Order: sequence, then structure tokens, then C-alpha cells
Amino acid sequence: MEVDLSALEANLRLLQERAKGEVIPVLKADAYGHGALPLARFLFQKGARRVAVATLGEGRVLREGGVKGEVLLLGSLHPLEAEEALKWGLTPSLSTLEAAEALAQRAKALGLAPRAHLKVDTGMNRVGFPWEEAVSALRAVEALGVRVEGVYSHLATAGEDAAFVEVQRRRFQEVRRALGEGYFYHLENSLGLLLHGGENVRVGLALCGLVPGIGLRPILRILARPTLVKRLKAGDRVGYGGEYVARGGEWLATLPVGYADGLPRGAVRWVRGPDGALLPVAGRLSMDQTTVRLRGPVDLGAVFEILSPDFGPTGLLAWAEARGTIPYEVAVHLSRRLPRLYLWEGEVFARVG
Ligand SMILES: *Cc1c(COP(=O)(O)O)cnc(C)c1O
Repeated sequence: MEVDLSALEANLRLLQERAKGEVIPVLKADAYGHGALPLARFLFQKGARRVAVATLGEGRVLREGGVKGEVLLLGSLHPLEAEEALKWGLTPSLSTLEAAEALAQRAKALGLAPRAHLKVDTGMNRVGFPWEEAVSALRAVEALGVRVEGVYSHLATAGEDAAFVEVQRRRFQEVRRALGEGYFYHLENSLGLLLHGGENVRVGLALCGLVPGIGLRPILRILARPTLVKRLKAGDRVGYGGEYVARGGEWLATLPVGYADGLPRGAVRWVRGPDGALLPVAGRLSMDQTTVRLRGPVDLGAVFEILSPDFGPTGLLAWAEARGTIPYEVAVHLSRRLPRLYLWEGEVFARVG
């Protein structure tokens, strides 16, 4: 897997031009399968003020990897996680008083200063203090000695129901008016920003370039060399179930990548050959291998592009659509088994696996 950090940087700049305030890179789920640690290191080098992940464990991985910058945990803090969040210097999100109390208590015991962002529910009904109670929640959290640095909410219907986005934005504005300026407010995700604009925003999908039509570019590419190239005889059957039956005379390459690497089974239909031509996958995808029908023989040094950094038939969006799911789900299932090379302006920035 190759990750193009130059494209990531271009995506970040484009999003920064669109946002009126800060762009917070969201690197949860290992940066949507792209690798959170190298991306966090790169983004802090490029001037990011903070990054966000979902869980305490994801935050710890960044700290263990040497990331010193601000890391916001987007999941609602569980009281049992308070101590670890403090010890690792991670900024938790609070949506219950129980968690705020645990954070204040553990901080006192450890001699640390408790800080947090307040999560406000403006209509998603998943986590957050109800927006109508934001003022009393904030006062109660602050009374415990927790410094509330940010206040935020999350859109439930960006890209799906613009009217409800407006309802949530109005509610968030009301919260902001009631709480006053002294806090860092952030609201929109990728589609929220791109379709409705935004000030301080948290973006994951768009940073990975997985939104077509506005100049963003996907940053991932999966490449493989064949481990076997051969010519089929009439009637030869290929792979599990013997689904592909040879007419005879066609060339076949076996690539050592399969659904255990995160290729969605049933949805990877094409691969790009060494000359860029689209080649059909022959038969079923295996766990560790994929068989491709060639136009002619190639040697074992030939490089095939299994996933392309574009919006064509070998792109991640095409996989997701063929699979009947959203690009997020396909991206987060890309496997850690794939060795990763992070490239910036043609140089190797990092290598993993
Ligand atoms: C995942 C997430 C985001 C980023 O969403 P994208 O659609 O990938 O931009 C922003 N905020 C919260 C709270 C999230 O959980």
C-alpha cells in the first residue's frame, strides 16, 4: 500500500480554504485504514493544531508513537477511562456528569489538571448533553474543576437531509450564544463542510480524498506483483467454486492479495495492468490471492494496481458501491497486513510493516 502524503497535504489545504476556522483531521479507526500514526506525525509537521481519534486506545497508540500534539477523543468518555486519558495527556469528550466527576477525581489524585471538550447533542441522540441543557451541563462540569476548552456537536444527516442539518446548526448556534465566546466551538464533518460550509470542522473522509467532484484526491494505492503467470487450457476452472471457466488460450496472473487484506469480496471486479489497462478479475477473490485475466503474458516483475487513487472502476468508491456500502466501511477494513509506504514529494516519509 502506498499513501501519497503530497495528495493528503493538498486535500488539507483545499479543506482549509473552504473552512472559516480550524480543520481538525479525524484519524479514528487507524485514519480510516490509512494509518493514524504516520498521518498524525505528518499532519502535525504540516501545522495541524490538533487531531481527533475515537477511542482511548487510539489516542494511546499516537502517544506511544511519539505524537506530542493535542489529541481529542471523540468517543464519550467512560468514567473507567478517566485515569488513562489523564495519564496519556489526551483530551476527552464529556457527555455525562459521571464521566466529568471521574475525570475531576482522578485528576486530583494524580495532581493533574483535568481538561475536556463538552459534547452537545443537537439531534443525533447518540452521545452528548442535550442541547437544551448545555448551559447547566457546562456550569456543572466547570464546578467540578474541569476546564472545558471546547464545545461541539455532530451532524446526523450531512449529505442526506439538508433541512435537518439547518435544525442542528440553529440549535448549536443557540448553545453558542448561551455559553458565550471563551470556548472553541466545532461542528461540521466532511460533507457538512463541503455542502454547507463551516467554521471549525472535523474531517476524515474528505481528508482521505474520498469525496468526488471538488478536486480532492484519494491518497491510497494498492500495488502487487504476480506470483504466477500462466496460460489456461479450454475448460480449466479458476479459484473456489471453479466459477471462471477458460475458453482456452487466455493468460492469467495470480496476485498475492485477497479479502483478508480488506479487498471487499464480490466487489473487486477490475485490476489495472502494468500498462494501465483494465483487466477483469477471473473467478472469486480468495482470502490471500486474486486471479486476473491478462491480455498477454507478463513477467513476475510487472506491477498491477489493485486499488487506484481515483474515482474510476478500480477506486475505493467503486468497491463500496459494488458492495452496497459506504466508502468509510471499505476503508476501515483495509488490513494491517498490507505493508505500507508513506511517500512525500517522492521521498519515503515512513514505512510500516
Ligand atoms: C468520524 C467523525 C467525524 C469525521 O467524519 P467525516 O465524515 O469522515 O468527515 C467528525 N466528527 C465526529 C464526532 C466523528 O465521529
